[in-house]
Formats: sequence, structure tokens, C-alpha cells
Amino acid sequence: MERADLDFAHLPFAYRKTDANIRYWFRDGAWTEGELTSDETITLHMASTCLHYGQEIFEGLKVFERPDGRIQTFRLDENAKRLQRSARKLLMEPVPEDLFREAVHRVVRANRRFVPPYGSGASLYVRPLLLGASAEVGVKPSQEYLFLVFVTPVGPYYKAGFEPVRLIVEEEIDRAAPGGVGDVKCGGNYAAGLRATMGAKDKGYSEVLYLDAREKRYIDESGSSNFYAIRDNTYITPSSPSILPSITNMSVRQLARDMGLAVEQRPVSVDELGTFEEAGCLGTAAVITPVESITYRGTEYVYGKRGEAGPVTTELYKRLTAIQWGEAEDPYGWTEIIPEEG
Ligand SMILES: *Cc1c(COP(=O)(O)O)cnc(C)c1O
Repeated sequence: MERADLDFAHLPFAYRKTDANIRYWFRDGAWTEGELTSDETITLHMASTCLHYGQEIFEGLKVFERPDGRIQTFRLDENAKRLQRSARKLLMEPVPEDLFREAVHRVVRANRRFVPPYGSGASLYVRPLLLGASAEVGVKPSQEYLFLVFVTPVGPYYKAGFEPVRLIVEEEIDRAAPGGVGDVKCGGNYAAGLRATMGAKDKGYSEVLYLDAREKRYIDESGSSNFYAIRDNTYITPSSPSILPSITNMSVRQLARDMGLAVEQRPVSVDELGTFEEAGCLGTAAVITPVESITYRGTEYVYGKRGEAGPVTTELYKRLTAIQWGEAEDPYGWTEIIPEEG
């Protein structure tokens, strides 16, 4: 195999053209076979429900080259299930788990030369999306759907990599409401939060930290990742109806238990900001990103030494990435090897 001519060790988290993406259509009650194409554009009816009524959901997962050269996915089954949950909530056609797996395997094989080599610190990001594609002008769910999966080789989400970031609590803008779709991975939630994220960046922060929309008192999550804090040997992460259930967070809760930490998933009040020893963000893109400080109503709460990840965060990061890279045993069966031939 000839590897793509890229500086894999210094990749940004950005889109890059690869050799192929894969597309399946749901029409007349059935999914098509799936077609690999090098076309980066899609042709949609201008009255498609995804363009007007927000029937658009996506997923994000990574595949990794192991030390033995084989490629593995991380918790692909959970991403498939979450896409199904998202679809049901927006009255879209759920993608069967087997079809999801087949799509990921086929598109990764077709882009083998773009999978970053083991040891580069980069990985292949897989972005499945599901779109309502039939023409409706009245408000109703689409009859047809496009399921598309593309890939792109990526480096760290935050420029600094495993370096602490600074967050600011957002009080004006809500990303999602308790009865809304904050727990759905849909583009609309990101559109709702763009002003907040860009506002935070303008002020020199990496991201915002959202509070619950009802009381503005409990921590929800960051713009694109879940939140946790460490205090008294306890891993604390918010439970809320308006946050996206992160698969990274689910995994790290298990790793925290394995390390002997207590795990609390409960409403976390902003009043606790001053009591945390460590804090971090969790997501496929963010992996575990240490949080250096959180600014709330003009006070900056700093966790540990500036510029340094705390000991618990560092250990969690090591354990998680060792499984993802195929360096450590995978006691929970989170990884799956992508067969070389389909
Ligand atoms: C995708 C996403 C996350 C992270 O979920 P993972 O499954 O860990 O990648 C967190 N918050 C939001 C809003 C997301 O869209």
C-alpha cells in the first residue's frame, strides 16, 4: 500500500479530499446497495426536508491504525445506535446497524492510503450523515433519505492537542432546551450554538460551557463535547436531558471506575465550579481535552497548574488512547478490526 503524501504528524482537524465516499438511498421502503464515488458534491431536490425542516443528523467516529498495521474502529456499534435514536427522534428512517457497519468498512477500505500511520497521533475521522431528501413543502417527514459516509484524516481538534483549554460559561445563548433535541446529534444544535462559540473564540476562549436552559444553574456541556470534573477521587459528569450522550464519556466513566474512582452522573451546579480539582472535555474529536480554567461571571476558576493536565485526566487519557490505538488490551470489546476484504 502506498500511503497518501501527507504530513500525518501535523494534520489539522479539517476536511481533506480523499478517494471516495459512500452513499445509500432509502427509496420505496428499502435501502439501495450503496455506491462508492469520488464526487464530493450531492444533488438534492431544492424542497428536501433537510434543507427546510432540519431533517439532518450525523455521527462522528474514528478509526485507528494499530501497531500491527490492522485498522480498528472504536465503539462503532454505539455510533450506529445513536444515529438510530437521533433518526427516530426526528422521524427519519433509521439506518440498520449492519448497513452502518458495512458503509464504514467499505469507505475506510476505499481510503486505506489516507489512514494515518500508527504513531503519528492522527486518525481517520469518519463522518456519517443522514438527510431527508424528498420534496415536501408542508411540514412532514421525508419519504426518502440519503445516508452518506465520508472520511478525512485528522489531527487534534483543539490546536494545542492534549493541552489545557480555557472555557467561558455562556448565559445568554442556549444550545438546547430540556424538551428539545439537545440529545440528538443534529446540525440544528450546532447552528443554535455558533454565535456562542464564535463569541467565546473572539474573547480568547476555546469554547463555551452551556448551562441548562431552564434555570441557568446546572452545567450542560461544551459546544461539541461533554464535560467532567474530578474532585475527591470522584469523576463527576452532568446528567441532563439537553446534552448529547457522548460515547467517549460513556467509555471514560468505565475507565474511571477501573481506576477506582467513584462516578457521579448528576446535575452539576455552577456553584461547584470553585471546588473541582481537574476538569475536562470529552468527545470523539476532542478525545479528552484538559480544561485549564472556566470563567463564570467575571471569575476565572483555574484547575491545577496552568498549561498542565492533572494526574487523573492524564491517566484517563492514556488508558483511553491505548485502547483506541490497539496498544492495550480491550477488555470491553470496544474495538473491531476492519476486515481487509469485504
Ligand atoms: C458528538 C458530540 C459530543 C461527543 O460525543 P462522542 O460520542 O463522544 O463523540 C458531545 N456533545 C455534542 C453536542 C456532540 O455533538
